[in-house]
Amino acid sequence: MTPRTVYEAPRAAGAPGEEVVTSTCAHNCGGRCVVNAHVRDGRIVRISTDPRRWTPEMPPLTACVRGFGAAERVNHPDRLRRPLRRVGPRGAGTFEPVSWDEALDEVAAQMRRIRDAHGPAAILDCSRTGSTAVLHNRAAVQRLLHLFGGCTELWSNLSNEAEIFALRHTYGPAADCKFSGREPTDYVNSRLMILWGWSPADGTFGTNSPQYVHWAHERGVRVVTVDPRATRTSLKMADEHVPIRPGTDAAMLIAMAQVIVSEGLQDQAFLDRMTLGFDEAHLPEGAPPGSSYRSYLLGWGDGVAKTPEWAAPITGVPAETIRRLARDFATRKPAALHCGYAPGRTAYGEQFHRAAYALCAITGSVGTPGGSSGCSGGARDHGIKRLGAPPNPANARVASPLLADVLARGRAGGYPADIKMVYSAVGDLVNQAPNVNKIRAGLERLEFMVVHDHFLTPTARYADIVLPATTFWERSDIHTPWSGAGHYAIFMRQAIAPMYECRHDVDICADLARRLGLDGYKRVDDIEWLREICAGTYIDDFDAFRERGLARLPAPDEPVAFAKEVRDPMRHPFSTPSGKIELYSTSLAANPDPYGLGSIPPIPTWIPPHDADPRYPLELISPKSRARTHSTHDNQDILSRADRNDVWIHPEDAGARGIADGTAVRVFNQRGATIIPARVTDRIARGVVSIKEGAWFTPDASGLDTRGSANVLTDDRAAPCGATTYNTCLVEIEPAPGPA
Ligand code: SF4
Repeated sequence: MTPRTVYEAPRAAGAPGEEVVTSTCAHNCGGRCVVNAHVRDGRIVRISTDPRRWTPEMPPLTACVRGFGAAERVNHPDRLRRPLRRVGPRGAGTFEPVSWDEALDEVAAQMRRIRDAHGPAAILDCSRTGSTAVLHNRAAVQRLLHLFGGCTELWSNLSNEAEIFALRHTYGPAADCKFSGREPTDYVNSRLMILWGWSPADGTFGTNSPQYVHWAHERGVRVVTVDPRATRTSLKMADEHVPIRPGTDAAMLIAMAQVIVSEGLQDQAFLDRMTLGFDEAHLPEGAPPGSSYRSYLLGWGDGVAKTPEWAAPITGVPAETIRRLARDFATRKPAALHCGYAPGRTAYGEQFHRAAYALCAITGSVGTPGGSSGCSGGARDHGIKRLGAPPNPANARVASPLLADVLARGRAGGYPADIKMVYSAVGDLVNQAPNVNKIRAGLERLEFMVVHDHFLTPTARYADIVLPATTFWERSDIHTPWSGAGHYAIFMRQAIAPMYECRHDVDICADLARRLGLDGYKRVDDIEWLREICAGTYIDDFDAFRERGLARLPAPDEPVAFAKEVRDPMRHPFSTPSGKIELYSTSLAANPDPYGLGSIPPIPTWIPPHDADPRYPLELISPKSRARTHSTHDNQDILSRADRNDVWIHPEDAGARGIADGTAVRVFNQRGATIIPARVTDRIARGVVSIKEGAWFTPDASGLDTRGSANVLTDDRAAPCGATTYNTCLVEIEPAPGPA
């Protein structure tokens, strides 16, 4: 019998007089949980979650603390209530209220003027992932701008472009990062799980992924974490934690591969059958002699064997630990490697992911139950697609980490246009893109900027027109699991009427489209649009889905990605040019610099991320806060208690600088400085400091950030694959100057 979708109502009854409405957070938060609004007299008074008990077969979708903070957010006194027009200097945050008609007339007029005077590429779309639901997402603005003639777009993913790139060049262009991992129910089939820069107990990476790791660990799966920090995952569910220097992960993975190969522990049959470029006998035609991965590992070309002793001074990990972990990964089968995104957000982040996938191939782990590809996403496409946009007729693209630079230099810097206008909805890139101070300077050159948001964020403060948008509670939508983790969908039923004068992003753009004479922006109402999006998917009863709230989709036949490619490679080749797992990438060999951002070798290769700078001897990393989703929620006083802003520093580094736990420090480099309390802890590696990203840039009168906004320190540099390099960042710390 064909498995059917099951529709569930994951909510308990409310108190008398309360209606309970099921939804989920629309934010780019790492999870997708049941978040129930208790509505009384048209107002959300309380949040609850899926009340059922945990079972591995049918786990409840239990909300995190941010989900429970949703009532604080929607009812926040600082919500934007009316359209605003800037009256003071750009960035000063001084505005006057205007009517919707005045605001939209001005936006339309400026769009027309700037496109006609400078071309469509002079408009930069800075919309992002503040809402990632099926209907209400950044495509609202993309659709408008692309229908209008196009724009300059920021193309690369700020979180995981390195993973996206490495997957495409290893497993083929059809490999989707959301569906190249495995179902969490498979974790228990591993004998060893290495969680590399992956801490679901901190950042959430799929609702229930921490519970599944814990469940697997309780059933005897050995769990090892590799991270510059001893994370909550390390503390709560790991047998071993290996601290590592940021940006050096590829060196350790390469050294592990060297141990396995030099000791003959590789799965040679798998390599011969499934991969390209492991050894000299399996190089593609035209590849130079000595260019195989095995030759690189053993140092046959450059004379440097990539041994644990070679890697130890680079990574800070003892050679014996690297050797032991390598032997364990090769012999304790099946073993899985789960990679997070953070090690890829480094100067050569693509090498981390490529080296991780190579390790999985060398041990024959790919496509096998209990094994993994090295990707941490889910295993199967759920078929429900987000609303998209037509192609960008201006064909003008810039890698996202270069936002500050394209604003500053435009055509003179080799970019497609001089940027005259910014359009930003569902995003806060002034705060979330690297090098905040350079972005601010670039924004001074704009002729016009429009922002939709819920609050006067660091980005909205720079706008000429600010438009108040609805939150997900005020509209209907659908959401699928974050990064493919699980097989279900949640109907986000509208819980309350739009508050104040707020409007949906889609309707704001539809109104602008009408003013601009553009046809076809919006044909039907939101519910009908959602019904159309679900047609032909596993949602076989839209009305039941809408009414009950949760659709449990049939489980995938194969819980591990690439199972059929590995089982039957003749009928199901990988989508690479060779049809194999390309340890040697034929497309990179043919075109080593695909984006003009730097050359990328065809095999995984260690490339040092930076030269030492004696002025800034500490490495900064900027992981996630449990109290925020990037910059979303940062203005919530109650929620912020769940995870305080601070900078982690090792006791030896703190002692050398006269810094005590809890005291205010100044973290600085050549790009900026911020003031933040120190947390002195041996949970962070020596020489490394950590500030949770997303705190709102809040300058004092001198422009100094006062709240720990990490991106005043990070570099607007792209990795060769277009990824951000947030975690390649050198800083120094000193006690904060006291009051004068
Ligand atoms: S993980 Fe995401 S969807 Fe789940 S409750 Fe937290 S913020 Fe909401």
